[in-house]
Amino acid sequence: MTADVEQTLVLIKPDAVARGLVGAVLSRYEAKRLAIVAMELRTIDGEFADRHYAEHVEQPWYPPLREFVTSGPLVALVLAGSRAIEAVRALNGATDGVKAAPGSLRGDFALSNRENIVHASDSPESAAREIALWFPGLTR
Ligand code: ADP
Ligand code: MG
Repeated sequence: MTADVEQTLVLIKPDAVARGLVGAVLSRYEAKRLAIVAMELRTIDGEFADRHYAEHVEQPWYPPLREFVTSGPLVALVLAGSRAIEAVRALNGATDGVKAAPGSLRGDFALSNRENIVHASDSPESAAREIALWFPGLTR
């Protein structure tokens, strides 16, 4: 293990689970050599969504996002690897599936800026907060 190894919180969102894309998404992370540290299929309620998306709850687009992320099962996982936070964000692509680069997960699988397949932590601080929220039993 080198000093730049990070952990990041990833969600395979309900749209991807409903479309049968869990395997396709996971295989991209595995191909990148990211390690799966934790993984669980989970359906969250609105209160939990509010905690996960605390920075966004005042946005005008938050209510439909809340509906979406609570609409069915998602896969929550912790991935680890060298500069994993940046690496996963790059694999995921830009938020809006239309603008996301072809080859990225969102670029290949999403046509929406809401139902966009995946979530990933955007900084070490976010990763620590989100991993503690989703997997409180994980020791770091
Ligand atoms: P990211 O997931 O790329 O980090 P944000 O943190 O900005 O993006 O937003 C969190 C999530 O909220 C997005 O992944 C998407 O599902 C949703 N979202 C962001 N912006 C919009 C928007 N303008 N309209 C609808 N949904 C949005
Ligand atoms: Mg974000």
